[in-house]
Amino acid sequence: MKLEVNQDVCIGCGACQAICPEVFEIGDEGYAQVYVENIDEDLEESATDAKEGCPVNAISEVKDTDEDNKEE
Ligand code: SF4
Repeated sequence: MKLEVNQDVCIGCGACQAICPEVFEIGDEGYAQVYVENIDEDLEESATDAKEGCPVNAISEVKDTDEDNKEE
């Protein structure tokens, strides 16, 4: 699973970091960022809780667009 933070939307409340500090951190600019590229299965639950707990819905899942998986 991959997540990303839209920093244009993030208000830097810190909730995601509080819920799942293994995945989210507040960066130098005061907005959250995901610092784990691929989130381990055992962290998916708390990462998803953080995503759903974001008050401004700034966290979204990144769908894998792996070229190898494309079928035309
Ligand atoms: S919970 Fe949402 S608004 Fe708050 S710091 Fe995390 S991404 Fe930003």
